Amino acid sequence: MNDISKKPTPVPDDLSRPFWAAAQERRLVVQRCAGCGYYNHPPRVFCDACLAQDLRFEPVSGRGAVYSFTVMHQRDVAGFEQDAPFINIVVELAEQPRLLMVSNLPIAERPKVSIGTAAEVYFEDRGDGVVIPQFRLV
Ligand SMILES: [Zn+2]
Repeated sequence: MNDISKKPTPVPDDLSRPFWAAAQERRLVVQRCAGCGYYNHPPRVFCDACLAQDLRFEPVSGRGAVYSFTVMHQRDVAGFEQDAPFINIVVELAEQPRLLMVSNLPIAERPKVSIGTAAEVYFEDRGDGVVIPQFRLV
């Protein structure tokens, strides 16, 4: 990926701020329900599993597997014009079925990508304190 400075940056809100703050420290955290233990991502007000509101952020392993992927050919996504074609991937984290995060890969990785391919988090530094959790194949 080239010229990451022109890519969009996250705008943390009250719900997502702990996620982005942890990313700055190169830690991956996910909101977890104190009542039933269910992981919720993206962060939300009520637990998806039991509707409790006692949700806390906890570290996760950063390991998972490709749940789905698609090749992006369009060059109309701001900041990604020069990267196309590239691969959008959805990673299912090891901690829980359907605990999903989105990332992308260079097109050169296409021969290695399949549903179920192992992936792990890394942290992309976009400057000015912006750090994005991304995933790469392992
Ligand atoms: Zn719950």
